[in-house]
Amino acid sequence: MSIQNDNLLNNEGEFQYKGHSFYILYPNSTKTIEQLTEYEVILIFASHPEFASFTIRKLRGYKDPQMYLKPIYFLKPSNDSNNYLNTISDGTIYNLSQLDALIPSIEEILTTNSKVYINNTISYESELIMKMLSFNFTRGRKQINPIPYMLSAINFCYPGLSSSFGYTEENKVFEILDLAESEGLISSSFYDKTHYCSKCNNGALYYRSVCPKCSSSNSETEDIVHHFRCGYVGPISDYKNEIDDSLFCPKCNKNLRHIGVDYDKPSALHTCNSCSNKFQDFEVKAKCMNCEYDNEIEYLIEKEIKKYTITNKGESAILYGYVAMQKEIEEIIGTVKFELFNKMTKFEIERMKYSKHQSFVALLNLKNTNELITKVGRSHQRELIKDIIMTVRNSIKPFDIISFRSLSTFVFSINEENEETALKTVYELSNLLNFLITDNVPDFDAKFEFDFLVLNTHEHYKKQLDRLIQNYE
Ligand SMILES: [Zn+2]
Ligand SMILES: [Zn+2]
Ligand SMILES: [Zn+2]
Repeated sequence: MSIQNDNLLNNEGEFQYKGHSFYILYPNSTKTIEQLTEYEVILIFASHPEFASFTIRKLRGYKDPQMYLKPIYFLKPSNDSNNYLNTISDGTIYNLSQLDALIPSIEEILTTNSKVYINNTISYESELIMKMLSFNFTRGRKQINPIPYMLSAINFCYPGLSSSFGYTEENKVFEILDLAESEGLISSSFYDKTHYCSKCNNGALYYRSVCPKCSSSNSETEDIVHHFRCGYVGPISDYKNEIDDSLFCPKCNKNLRHIGVDYDKPSALHTCNSCSNKFQDFEVKAKCMNCEYDNEIEYLIEKEIKKYTITNKGESAILYGYVAMQKEIEEIIGTVKFELFNKMTKFEIERMKYSKHQSFVALLNLKNTNELITKVGRSHQRELIKDIIMTVRNSIKPFDIISFRSLSTFVFSINEENEETALKTVYELSNLLNFLITDNVPDFDAKFEFDFLVLNTHEHYKKQLDRLIQNYE
């Protein structure tokens, strides 16, 4: 089979080849990321470097494993390679006739991807950790090394992790790496040491030699000349004349011929063009290209950049799911695993058959969870989740249970109640939670959605729960 380029353009870059579905992503594509997840392989048409770098980072940074683990290649007219982008893509081809050669690597990635255990993590951090681990694991890498990258706010990118952050949040990768290391999922060793702006943590700094008095870099420099014979020391302009290039000592009037024999230049004198200050040593400052703060070198933030290795525990987390942090949160705040919630719902339906009461499952989804997490930061996040759960807990009866489906969605039971009261509970709860969040995070507009399931006795419990949850996956 041969593939014609114009053929592909006709059906918007979508085609089948050797049993796999491909999509060529052109800059003018109107497809959403959700629509792209249905293809097995994405080829990014990378004639514009900006489009290529933006797109690969966006797809790898997307929250859905169906996207970030997908085989993604560059389709390029020329060979202009960037180490970081190459690492987070799965390779480059220069025309579609090279597609054949990709098939084994595509199939290998798809097979390895299917071994990754995807579970819904309750915390944003564990979600990011699992993403980093599984992305590198499925690419056959046990090492997670920082790669210098010009468009990074911290000068280095970690494959599978950095793309999840926008430019201004990028230094949060260190928090995630530290957390993953403290959980024993990765181990670290020294890679390099670098400096960041003390105001905004950015690594894009340019160094300037400035006047120690006024910090201007506008200055002129003159050599200081030392005449051996009479010992006179002064700027070279003192020795110059207006007729020729020869130098005469202003003190003893002798001609200075040979450097090293008659005279030397022990230092230089700088004159500031801005404040006329004369000085011998520049001060070096580091100006931040992000916030324009002029850092004094000694106050820059020094940061050790580490490289990492996935540990055995990390590998088993990839293959069998990561439960440690989830377990920790369950213990603190008294929620149950979703599997258990399923079972309890099943029992409740059985119970309803005998005692003829009504029971409900309510769902609460915070649409802008990631925005909230970013706003509150890691240290307060767990406190806030705890407060939310406490609020829910206080609104329902002791035998009702709460379970997280994902970080942004949780469900709770309202058993043995009439529909009016159950709805009222949910309504009042939504008000309480809005108050709670507005109270804790003032400039955040929480977008809660509630859903509600009236349990019935004739339908399988799983089918009923799926109906409730499917819109919030
Ligand atoms: Zn000055
Ligand atoms: Zn002299
Ligand atoms: Zn800065």
